[in-house]
Amino acid sequence: MPRWVLHIDMDAFYASCEQLTRPTLKGRPVLVAGVSGRGVVAGASYEARKYGARSAMPTHRAARLVGPQAVLVAPRRPVYSAASRRVFEIIARHADVVEQLSIDEAFLEHASLADATVNTITAFANELRAEIKKETGLPSSIGAGSGKQYAKIGSGLAKPDGVFVIPHDEQLEILHPLPVSELWGVGPVTGAKLSAAGIATIGDLAALSEKEVEIALGGVVGKQLWQLARGIDDRPVAPRAESKQVSSEHTYPTDLITPEEVDAALRRAAGDSHRRLLADGRGARTVTVKLKMADFHIESRSATLPYATDDLDTLVATAFKLVRYPEEVGPIRLVGVSYSGLEESLQDVLFPELDQAIVKPPRISSEYESGVSDHAGGPPVEVVAEAAPQAGQWQATQDVFHPDYGHGWVQGAGKGWVTVRFETRATGPGRIKSLRSDDPLLTPADPLDSLAWDDWLGC
Ligand SMILES: [Mg+2]
Repeated sequence: MPRWVLHIDMDAFYASCEQLTRPTLKGRPVLVAGVSGRGVVAGASYEARKYGARSAMPTHRAARLVGPQAVLVAPRRPVYSAASRRVFEIIARHADVVEQLSIDEAFLEHASLADATVNTITAFANELRAEIKKETGLPSSIGAGSGKQYAKIGSGLAKPDGVFVIPHDEQLEILHPLPVSELWGVGPVTGAKLSAAGIATIGDLAALSEKEVEIALGGVVGKQLWQLARGIDDRPVAPRAESKQVSSEHTYPTDLITPEEVDAALRRAAGDSHRRLLADGRGARTVTVKLKMADFHIESRSATLPYATDDLDTLVATAFKLVRYPEEVGPIRLVGVSYSGLEESLQDVLFPELDQAIVKPPRISSEYESGVSDHAGGPPVEVVAEAAPQAGQWQATQDVFHPDYGHGWVQGAGKGWVTVRFETRATGPGRIKSLRSDDPLLTPADPLDSLAWDDWLGC
């Protein structure tokens, strides 16, 4: 049965939302990144990517690559969530089946397109992109192919702001020169095995015999990758239930016996889960650390924060409060970290240091232990709540309102003054004003007002 699967991916989604709602930032290298200075980049505009900046890169490194023209903007989840909801409303009008992968990515399939020509598919994709652009102002790219894998590769080739259809009869020609890492499921471990076997491209993998694949990569995974490399991907597009958690765990070939090994394993799992959390677009309230000991007994311990966050340092610090060491529990063979209690409303934590400060007590005290349950969902561990912001203190890139100038964002503050750029999506590039930081008319504002989507009720 011929079929077309489409993959839509919004272009530099978080940064594009910032450039949309703060028109002065259009054409500028924008880094959406935690303000604490120790965080990672959640999104980078194409202008920033030209310098090598990428999401998930430490903020200080990305800022150094871009140089002084970098614009650092604190993440505004409510804005991205609202934009995502509006984008997906438009997508739902066009496709029968939508499988949402993250806040800005989905597979689509449409029954009437099953045996469409390449031209029809291209026209369909461009129409959808144009409608999203017209209604939301946001750029997207679409790939299409005979299965999910090829649609996804197509959208990568289409970027930015384009369409790339992989025709069924040219599929192998297009796929085979691409690096094998483009295939799903080729992570660092499989990648190392593949390069050890001298396999660099998708074509190299496709050229192997089934037996050779089994030897190089092992049974199930190897067979799946091999099929993908040969142009076979009949996985269905199916709507997903919204995930309740993101997690990552690794089993180690040799038991972990020193605190340093456990620390490294914990950071790895916490970091991997954090990347999934960023892709999901929500923040987490609960952190769970799972340990499997050499005797196969499993322990999980959870702590719940007073707010949802996607701040890596805060999540890692919380995981360190929960972990236990071989000295207490014996050799450890598996370390996992999951984030749950996922919420869209992500409070900007003004003083994340307060939560991050509690990193790794030298010993887990008995008092501390009494507050921790041995299963997920137990009584929360008490965490210091953040202090209220002081009057007259403005955070860089915070949304504000002034009755004379309208909605704006803080471009700089200090020495009793605050500089505000007054603009929204609807105003075009705005004027900058310097105001006394204790100006009674200047008030914090709802970030959603920067979208100025009065024509849409989802805000
Ligand atoms: Mg994207």
